[in-house]
Amino acid sequence: MKVRVYNKAGELVGPLESAEVVKSETEWKRQLTRKQYEVARGKGTEAPFCGLLLDNKRDGVYACVCCRLPLFSSSSKFNSDTGWPSFFQPVASENVVTEDDRSYGMRRTEILCTRCACHLGHVFNDGPKPTGLRFCVNSESLVFVDKADLATLADPAAG
Ligand code: FE
Repeated sequence: MKVRVYNKAGELVGPLESAEVVKSETEWKRQLTRKQYEVARGKGTEAPFCGLLLDNKRDGVYACVCCRLPLFSSSSKFNSDTGWPSFFQPVASENVVTEDDRSYGMRRTEILCTRCACHLGHVFNDGPKPTGLRFCVNSESLVFVDKADLATLADPAAG
């Protein structure tokens, strides 16, 4: 698949071809905490107002907890009062995919990491301008990288 990634200069580049990240359940369990695993690989939902990144206001990038693909920027984060970190757009449309979710008697649109299919949360149509979208994301599915440390997210393919 094609995704956008950061280079060593901290610039978002691409879309570049990137290989799907596939791991066994055993490998994911070893890599993740139990809560991260339940949400990210098991499509769970963390309790509202409990996530560690809900009130994070630092400048930087929220990456996939499973494969470190950049997913959301602090510049698109907003306070939705829902209890979950909320963004009005992904860092790149290529990096987040959606799927129809009819679980629990609801009709929702699930959002997942393009590269590893990590469950992120859901997207709704009641977000703020400019997109009108609300990407409602679990803290457990994300790892925050401070703007000053963006080079640590650099993808080898980006040069
Ligand atoms: Fe991922």
